[in-house]
Amino acid sequence: MGFLVDLICTRCDRSHEKQKLWNLSACCEAPLFARYDLERASRSVDRADLPGREATMWRYEEVLPVERAAYRVSLGEGFTPLLRVDALGKRLGVPVLYVKDEGVNPTGSFKARGLSAAISRAVELGAVAVAIPSAGNAGGATAAYAARAGLTAHIFMPADAPEANMVECRQLGAQLTLVDGLITDCGRLVADRKAEEGWFDVSTLKEPYRVEGKKTMGYELAEQLGWALPDVVLYPTGGGTGLIGMWKAFDEMEAMGWIGSARPRMVAVQAAGCAPIVRAFETGAESAGFWEGAETVASGLRVPGAVGDFLMLNAIRESRGTAVAVTDGALLACVDEMASATGIFPAPEGAATLAGLKKLIEDGWISTEDRVVLFNTGTGLKYTETMAAADHADGG
Ligand SMILES: *Cc1c(COP(=O)(O)O)cnc(C)c1O
Repeated sequence: MGFLVDLICTRCDRSHEKQKLWNLSACCEAPLFARYDLERASRSVDRADLPGREATMWRYEEVLPVERAAYRVSLGEGFTPLLRVDALGKRLGVPVLYVKDEGVNPTGSFKARGLSAAISRAVELGAVAVAIPSAGNAGGATAAYAARAGLTAHIFMPADAPEANMVECRQLGAQLTLVDGLITDCGRLVADRKAEEGWFDVSTLKEPYRVEGKKTMGYELAEQLGWALPDVVLYPTGGGTGLIGMWKAFDEMEAMGWIGSARPRMVAVQAAGCAPIVRAFETGAESAGFWEGAETVASGLRVPGAVGDFLMLNAIRESRGTAVAVTDGALLACVDEMASATGIFPAPEGAATLAGLKKLIEDGWISTEDRVVLFNTGTGLKYTETMAAADHADGG
């Protein structure tokens, strides 16, 4: 039946009943976190049992929210490869370098993890239609998992999102609305209409379970590295669900005795044209505020305001990590560089982590002894028009 106990407000710890479909907390309008009985979970599964389990994120079922396995909506997401990229690492001066390749997930991005968890739980709790504002990939993943579950999906996406994201939403049977604006404008439309339409809102961190799917990246890092976490993790940050989720996963694993107290330094990489978390980190602020005029080719990073800003900043600071902004020119150059040096064709967002790594090596913040993981969060194949435009602008 699972080990989920309740949901707790990330601002004031107030408990919320788990059998109800929640969005933000009732007390503070803050994200809710799932709390598990980790003591009992750790008695039910040993980390040594894991290799015999299915190669998806559902191998960590004791710490996932679905209570009856029949409600699991899966397309085989997670347990993606953690690839050593030695040639690239040696060239940069960080010999122990890995890429966690999330581009091989269903729908071509790590959004699959979050939406698999969220839609599974929404179905288990009786939702019949979901709605989501999306910069692109979350919409595609929602469309896929809704189709798998037999739910209706309503997706609101900026009109200049990558074409592949629009095509997949339509082909997967979702209702797609293109919006002349940013993801935050799309979010407003969902908020205005959801009550009347009977939609369950699955916006990033505005429901408790996408972060549960994404936290499995933290479990996988530990398992794939033999239960020794890396020294530095670079993560391309928009809404921040993955960063926040991994930080939660590390605490859960420690509570279950799977890892010790050591943590990676967590690095948020953002685009220079939309870097609210970098700005807040640098000024010592506890929340990020809204970034005016957000613009970047890395569509998943074009998130000018995030409801989980304080959670990201907290994880970055507690880990003694940092936040860096990279230009579109630098991240696009890194698409080519990562692809040709590793065989992994990254999304622009994933390539941004390589641009961030170079900056931090130059600054001396990352040293040759550090074991470093870059997150390639999606496949480059969904961004062919972005890459073609960049080549054209290069004269290439
Ligand atoms: C959504 C997205 C991101 C940002 O992820 P968050 O966890 O919301 O910060 C990064 N890369 C890609 C490819 C994305 O689709």
